[in-house]
Amino acid sequence: AVQRDNLKAFAEENLRLLKESRENAQALKEADIRKDEFLATLAHELRNPLAPIRNGLQILRMAPEGPRAEEVRGMMDRQLTHMVRLIDDLLDVSRVSRGRIDLRKARMSLQSAVQSALETSRPLIEDNRHNLILDIPETPLWVEGDLTRLAQVVSNLLNNAAKYTPPGGEIRLTMREHDGQADIEVADNGLGIDPDMLPRVFELFTQADRHLDRSQGGLGIGLALVSKLVEMHGGTSRAVSEGAGKGSTFTISLPLSDTHGEFAGEGLQKK
Ligand code: ADP
Repeated sequence: AVQRDNLKAFAEENLRLLKESRENAQALKEADIRKDEFLATLAHELRNPLAPIRNGLQILRMAPEGPRAEEVRGMMDRQLTHMVRLIDDLLDVSRVSRGRIDLRKARMSLQSAVQSALETSRPLIEDNRHNLILDIPETPLWVEGDLTRLAQVVSNLLNNAAKYTPPGGEIRLTMREHDGQADIEVADNGLGIDPDMLPRVFELFTQADRHLDRSQGGLGIGLALVSKLVEMHGGTSRAVSEGAGKGSTFTISLPLSDTHGEFAGEGLQKK
């Protein structure tokens, strides 16, 4: 009987392993498909700005001081900035996934990160004639953080809000403190996110179907970077949306560096 039990256990274990390896193969296949799709998107996104840049060059060559010269130079500058941003994101994401990003942490106020993010994202927000509403406390919220990286996080959220909200929409940035944490929330009243996509938005290469102007496209790495960078600061990221067409709210929470309770040890008396 013992032998029969052993045999049965052995068969069951084999079956489990077989099932597991089938599931692994399926997961690998799906990752492979996502990678192919990503490569196609990457090629498109890098190719797209080149045509207007080439046209711009042609126009400038024919009429360097013509009436459209200034406008053309501005357009070329925007297209190049977009390309540089895509490539920087790509480099960052590969560094993050190999654990090669070093944070330069220092005591900083979250307000300074938001300020810097606003400088980066304002042009896109204004181009789309969005109404930007800020709700930021005056008292600095201090964190141990990398100013450039946290600004990048906030700017990615603001850019997405601008990209995925039809012109004239509303973008609300709120900062608040609670329980030794600081929350930064970026809410929009734009396209929203499908419930089945919502749990995966922070994963690499996740993108909804595109019905958007390609000039505002991306690679599906912005939010993956957001969540990694926030994680590296000991924080968390989350996304909420009531569904398609109902807007989205992205919130990051970061530990504050000197909350009132933090340095008060057990034995300390409150005055
Ligand atoms: P990208 O914007 O380059 O596609 P992201 O990683 O920044 O990549 O975002 C992933 C996907 O999440 C987007 O393609 C989009 O479908 C969805 N998304 C992100 N932010 C928003 C938002 N504010 N409103 C609606 N959808 C969003």
